[in-house]
Amino acid sequence: MGQRCCSFCQRLFQPSRFHPEQTVCSDQRCQQQRRTHSRRQKLALDPEYRQVCRDSARKWRAHQAGYWKQYRPAKPGSVERNRTQQRRRDLRRRLANLANNHSALDLKASVAGVWWLGPAAADLANNNLASAQVLILQGSSGKPRLPQASCKQQPSGFLVPLA
Ligand SMILES: [Zn+2]
Repeated sequence: MGQRCCSFCQRLFQPSRFHPEQTVCSDQRCQQQRRTHSRRQKLALDPEYRQVCRDSARKWRAHQAGYWKQYRPAKPGSVERNRTQQRRRDLRRRLANLANNHSALDLKASVAGVWWLGPAAADLANNNLASAQVLILQGSSGKPRLPQASCKQQPSGFLVPLA
């Protein structure tokens, strides 16, 4: 049987005779990546597996009630990293919601002229007509309608005012 190229590290490897369909080499890092990739695929495609994983995590948390209270003070770097990542996820979710705002899709492109006026304008070398686009986002109640932070106990505190 001929050699193959590993789909993760791109190195040549000899497939196992017990697994002739093998596409990933036996390197520990590649095997770890293969398992991670496989698990993510299964989570994305199999709702039953997703539910089983959720239930399992829920059971574990119920039996280890004080785990996170001990973990957070012991690993402040990890806590800060998690907060930073959660802020990114929250922001990405807000931007996705904003992108899905259908009223924004009704907007038409517009060109606005900007003129410099007043005595200082005479001193500008290139006092030309400039084009600009203006996008105004206004909430109905005056307050921005943004989704809540994903974690109420550890809020990311990253609300972006739109108005
Ligand atoms: Zn590999």
